[in-house]
Amino acid sequence: MLRLFAPRIPGTFTTLRLGNGAVCTVDTRPGSSLQRMPHDTRVSSGLVETFTIPTSTPESDGTASWDSTTVVVVQLTAGAHTGLAYTYTYEAAADICAYLIHKEVLSKDVHFIPKIHLDMDRAVRNMGRPGLVSCAIAAIDNCLWDLKARMLGLPLLQLLGAARDQIAAYGSGGFTSYTDKELIEQVSNWAEEGFSCVKMKVGRDPHRDPHRIKEVQKALGGRAKLYVDANGAFHPKTALEKSREYADLGAVWFEEPVSSDDRSGLNFVREHCPPRICVAAGEYAYVPDDFRLLIQAEAVDVLQADGTRCGGISNFLEAAGACEMFHLPLSAHTSPSLHATLCCALTPAMNVEYFYDHYRIESMIFDGAVLARKGMLAPDQTRPGLGLQLKELDAAKFRVSRKTVS
Ligand SMILES: [Mg+2]
Repeated sequence: MLRLFAPRIPGTFTTLRLGNGAVCTVDTRPGSSLQRMPHDTRVSSGLVETFTIPTSTPESDGTASWDSTTVVVVQLTAGAHTGLAYTYTYEAAADICAYLIHKEVLSKDVHFIPKIHLDMDRAVRNMGRPGLVSCAIAAIDNCLWDLKARMLGLPLLQLLGAARDQIAAYGSGGFTSYTDKELIEQVSNWAEEGFSCVKMKVGRDPHRDPHRIKEVQKALGGRAKLYVDANGAFHPKTALEKSREYADLGAVWFEEPVSSDDRSGLNFVREHCPPRICVAAGEYAYVPDDFRLLIQAEAVDVLQADGTRCGGISNFLEAAGACEMFHLPLSAHTSPSLHATLCCALTPAMNVEYFYDHYRIESMIFDGAVLARKGMLAPDQTRPGLGLQLKELDAAKFRVSRKTVS
């Protein structure tokens, strides 16, 4: 409720104090519309919470296994507005978030995101920026963008500028830990829901993969195209053999056939694999130079980027700019409630990974989570910012840490 504690004086701009304590200026000149212009655009406090959510069943891919997922949620307040964003990483990132908010974000004007981002990058120089630190910066950067949009009363998509109002999602999971029955049920559900592409994991037990792929293709029945992701399980020559095998089985996308650190290996596979299958990587790009190195090495047909890892929306925009310049499609890695907005704003974006763990978690702990409809993600244009609010009661049972910064 807007409550004015100062008299309106026709013919002037009048400074008013709102019921919630914020200060605003009201244009009361005759004929003008009543406008609120928030004065307090400096960050006054932060809250960093960590939640660890068990997976529905134990999960694995070509190189890792896990039974829970940790999400670090950052909230920043300026004046009457609070932004909210997140990163998927380890709990230790919460300490880095709290340190950076205290050192480089408090009292800073939210209109100066590039300056704050640069200050954060410089503050972590001796910690080592890639990895955990970059995830912490991402959560803060994403939160600043969300906060700025909320201050302006705009959905973040409108602040960034829209290239489209919805973006294709692809169903992603297909863990190597699944039984054939679980695998078939998951991909069948996605095809039934209207996803045009689905992705399964390969590489943990390569001898079983042809059987698993055939079962999946049988279940899809041509309703969706098949992506496979090895999570860096193979060496280059083995990966090249696998690319031919998978292409013959109808796969059209081979993600991380070798480690993303092996850019010459990625280039070798991309150069020699059948043209009907494309090589994708980029989920471990933590800084803009990581995207540049993948592009310079001609390592990928599709550049992947993760706005919860690469330093946030600010750097995701740079990855998209690089894609435009080098005529590469951009695909967002996981985190659909963030990437739905970003990929609707960016012309090179081709799709968003609708990762099972993340859409499950986002619908559990966020009101306003962006869920796929008929295989498409459409950000809610009636909600400011990213449109997310923490479901306090639902999230509380998964909370492992809570740090306030003021
Ligand atoms: Mg992947």
